Amino acid sequence: MENLGRIIAEGNLDQDLIQIAEKVKEGKRLTTEEGITLFEKGELAYLGVLANYIREKKHGNKTYFNRNIHIEPTNICVFDCKFCSYSRLLKHKQEGWEMTEEEILETMRSYENKPITEVHIVGGVHPKMGLHYFANLIKKIKEIRPDIHVKAFTAVELEYMCRKAKVSYEEGLKILKDHGQNSLPGGGAEIFDEEIREKICADKCSSAQWLEIHETAHKLDMPSNATMLYGHIESYAHRIDHMNRLRELQDKTGGFNTFIPLKFRNKGNQMSDVDETTMIEDLRNYAISRVYMDNFDHIKAYWPMIGRKTAQASLNFGVNDIDGTIDDTTKIYSMAGSEEQSPTLTTEQLIKMVLDAGRQPIERGTLYEVINDYSDYKLEDNSVAY
Ligand code: SF4
Repeated sequence: MENLGRIIAEGNLDQDLIQIAEKVKEGKRLTTEEGITLFEKGELAYLGVLANYIREKKHGNKTYFNRNIHIEPTNICVFDCKFCSYSRLLKHKQEGWEMTEEEILETMRSYENKPITEVHIVGGVHPKMGLHYFANLIKKIKEIRPDIHVKAFTAVELEYMCRKAKVSYEEGLKILKDHGQNSLPGGGAEIFDEEIREKICADKCSSAQWLEIHETAHKLDMPSNATMLYGHIESYAHRIDHMNRLRELQDKTGGFNTFIPLKFRNKGNQMSDVDETTMIEDLRNYAISRVYMDNFDHIKAYWPMIGRKTAQASLNFGVNDIDGTIDDTTKIYSMAGSEEQSPTLTTEQLIKMVLDAGRQPIERGTLYEVINDYSDYKLEDNSVAY
């Protein structure tokens, strides 16, 4: 608050930036032009002040994480996104993996006595793993862990599943919900601008389909998240357009929990000639996301993708969630050249990360229900097993 007031009072910044700071102070929504101005003119320190003001107004020092596992049933995919380092086309099946149902269930059983609260299931779009296969799989997962929150399938996977099963999105989502699926992750959104989408992921679900699937899920009381893949061939205007479409849907349904900017990584994909963004640009992008997405409660940084240090820094640039323990052989991040080659942290390591950044670690459930407040946790206690 103090810092924001100083920016406005000193008045030695660009007039557009001062006006934006005033709007932020008054809690007003920014326009498209103002969003683009932030990208074009906003320096890191200025953006940090604005984003931190909103972050602390909404959450104080609270920084959320959860105890989750990721299951990636396969990386075989019928689609061919140019930025994807993870998938293998069906014709190169031998280079990929396909978990059997039993392997997936065994993974779940191996966490039987561990206090995880969420399983996150996403993967490639495999032609043989359809709607009914996954519905039954979720049912069996719930038989093993009735208490677990199942967050599963990007809109890209769902569009394909519903199309193959010849059901509407509503029918497909109802089937999954009836079998125990609780919510949707936010992947597959990439960048909504149709021209950019045509260049980087022409053959998968369209932006309109992505948004329709999330809207349908929200109507069925299945909340979801939303991502934005940034830092490739898109412009700042494309990022703001992407955020606008999400902001509009959120106004309509209120069903999104979290906005998750995802940094484009250039290792092992068809866009290796595109440079990656700098850490400064990543932090600017988090900050602008926090300022612009006024109707999203939470902004999340995936620590495996940007690394622990940048994730800690992001907590001063609007981020209030750093995802979870992600205990798994998760490959989505590491195959894309992420900072963290072995994306698993213990709960204690996550708590330490947050405490070291001067924030308050809160273990949450998927829907941000508070499970444990670790503000007074003494690291030498070593009392959080797992
Ligand atoms: S990004 Fe998703 S849909 Fe695209 S190729 Fe990779 S796994 Fe398949």
